[in-house]
This record gives sequence, C-alpha cells and structure tokens, in this order.
Amino acid sequence: MSNSRPRVFVTADIGNAALDRLRERGYEVEVYADTEAPPKSLIVEEVRSGINALITTLRDPIDEEVFAAGSGTLRVVAQIAVGVDNIDRAAANRYRVPFTNTADVLTEATAEFALFILGAVSRKLYPSENLVRENRWESWHPYHPILGDEVTGKTVAVIGTGRIGKAFAKKCIGLDVDLLLYDPILRDDKFVESADREMRLRYEAGFSHALHRVSYATLERALNAADYVSVHVPLIMPGESEAPTYHLLNAAAFESMKPGAYLINTSRGPVVDERALHEALINNKIAGAALDVYEQEPLPADSPLRDARLVDRLRLFHHVASGTHETRLSADPAVGMAGRTVQAVIDVLEGNYGGDPTRMPYVVNKEAFEEGG
Ligand code: NAD
Repeated sequence: MSNSRPRVFVTADIGNAALDRLRERGYEVEVYADTEAPPKSLIVEEVRSGINALITTLRDPIDEEVFAAGSGTLRVVAQIAVGVDNIDRAAANRYRVPFTNTADVLTEATAEFALFILGAVSRKLYPSENLVRENRWESWHPYHPILGDEVTGKTVAVIGTGRIGKAFAKKCIGLDVDLLLYDPILRDDKFVESADREMRLRYEAGFSHALHRVSYATLERALNAADYVSVHVPLIMPGESEAPTYHLLNAAAFESMKPGAYLINTSRGPVVDERALHEALINNKIAGAALDVYEQEPLPADSPLRDARLVDRLRLFHHVASGTHETRLSADPAVGMAGRTVQAVIDVLEGNYGGDPTRMPYVVNKEAFEEGG
C-alpha cells in the first residue's frame, strides 16, 4: 500500500463504535449517511476514485462493473452480513479481490428470531394484541374469538443445517419437538447424535413427557411430516450449484405440506415463491407463515402478501432477524457484525496472517488465492 492514508467507503452507517477503530488507525472513512442504499453509480464512482476498502450491505449490487472500477486500488469488500448473494463471486475472483462476511456473530440472534416468529404466528400474538389495543376484547371464552396452535410436542423441519439451522434446532429442543433436518450438502451426524442425547436426557429427567426424535430426512418427507418448516439456506440461483435454493419453497412444496403447517423464512426472500405462498395461504393449503425476508425489499406496496384476508395468519417483519444491539453494532469482532466487518478490512489492508487471504478468518472467496487459484 502507498504511504497515503487507507481510504474506506461505507455504504451504510455501521456505527461509530466500530468505525472509530478504523479512524484511530488513521484510515480515511467516508460513510454514506442516508438510510437508503446509495445508487450503484455512486458506489462505482467511489471505487473508481481509488478507495482501498468498500464496506457493503446486502442492498448493494457488487458486480463486475464495481470490481473493474477498482482494478489496482480496491483491495477488499467487507460485507456486514453472512449472506453474500449480492456479490459476484466470479468477478471478485477474476480481479483477485477478497470479500468477507460476518458469519457466526449473527447465528444466535437470527436463530432465536426464527423461533420467536414461529411462536408469534402459531400462537396468534398479533391478532391477540390487536384485540386488546382496539378495545374489541369482550370476555374470556374457551375459544372465542381466536385460538392458536401449540408448538410443544410438534414436528419441526429445519431446511438447511448450517450454522443458523443448527442453532435454531438446538433452541427448538427446549420445546420438546421432533426434528426433521434437510440439507443435501452438509450432513452433520455428530449434531444429530448430540441432539438425540439431549432429547433422551430431557425425557429421562422427566422434563419432556415423550421421547422426541431427530433425524435427517428427504425434503419431501420433511415437508409432509412437519407442523413447522423453518428455512435456513443461502440464496443460490439455478446454475450456481447442484442444489439451488431459488424458489425452493414453491407451489409443489406447499402442496406437500400439512394444511395445519406453518412456514418460517428468515433466510433470503427469493427462496420462497411469494405468489405461490399467497395462493397456498388463500386456499388453506397451509395454516400460516412468518417472513423476515422478501423477493423484493422493502416489501412493495402492491405485494400480494399484504392481502388483508391473511393478516391474522401471515406475520411480516423488516429483515431484522440479526437486528439486536449486540449483534449488529458491537465493535468486538467476536460479538458484533460491525466489529467483524472492520476487522476484516484491517486484516486485508494491514496484511495480517502474513497477507494471505486464505488464512484470514472472514474471507469468503479463499479459492481465488489458493495455489493455482
Ligand atoms: P451456512 O452456510 O452455515 O448454512 C447454510 C446451509 O444451507 C448449509 O449447511 C448448506 O449445505 C445448506 N444448503 C445449501 N443448499 C441447500 C438446499 N438446496 N437445500 C437445503 N439446504 C441447503 O449459513 P448460515 O450462517 O446458517 O446462514 C444461512 C443464510 O441465512 C445466509 O446465507 C443468509 O442468507 C441468511 N441470513 C438471514 C438473516 C436475516 O437477517 N434474516 C440473518 C443471517 C443470515
């Protein structure tokens, strides 16, 4: 690097707690202050002006044009998210620019959110609160005007058993459910063994009334048998892998689910075919859904998901599953996404780990820097 101060452009404010770590090291940090994403043209302009590091969010399309604009000057793209489907991996590799993510530090926050919204939709928390707030609560009655569905003792399907899927599954064990796991790529038998042991222990201790089960299953069986289907996969477009996840939850999948089942999606919006989901809900193919992510974000005003007929059965959240103070903003790379993002910039620009991106913990596209890569 030249003797001039390293320059960093940040496409969204990730908080001074973390950014001050860069400023204290003499970095020149420019933050796009608007809460909206910057236009792509501005990102390209910034990159072309010679910045050395670009801190991005999942709203920013980081493609060939961006990498070409930074040729020779852009040394790292640090994304404040675990999902990196907005970054063109092949282009990053062609230009030999490492990009990084914030895996692990958001795992528990996202997993607990998935469990909470599962509970919210199943136990009808929103319609219940509305009843009270709108002064429509007339009397206590055994079933009038709404009942929820109990989660304890039911069957939960976990689609994608990576970091978040397994963290979610672990939390579900406390609700004494049976777990069906589906993942065509990663099969963690040790996890199944440990989860099974915990379920047995709960049963033997009298914590649970029945001995619950955990196993891997086919997608078809998981969808057929589950009362709750929770999705924890990355967005993978057709052609990018042998197991793409685009519209994994489509009309056929909803057809396979029980009429009393619920879908929970905290992964990426395009994993669910929203038009098919709307149809499935309207036609009572499934009981309800809770969504944190959408095919288009923010959710358009004319989205079919806003159908007033679905308001009691469809919970909608603003892509906030990882949104806790600790997880989003902590400057500690072992705790927060912001801390991990700035550490990733420091690792690359200051040549930590011998300057070898394959040894840097947060670099995603290590293959570009491997021998022969
Ligand atoms: P991970 O890579 O640890 O796990 C993903 C798992 O999905 C892997 O085990 C992989 O084998 C599996 N998988 C891949 N293709 C599949 C398919 N076709 N069917 C079933 N499983 C498949 O990732 P993670 O850290 O657990 O994060 C998962 C995703 O969650 C991220 O990629 C991100 O898009 C999303 N996410 C969303 C939020 C939010 O705020 N809503 C927060 C964090 C992560």
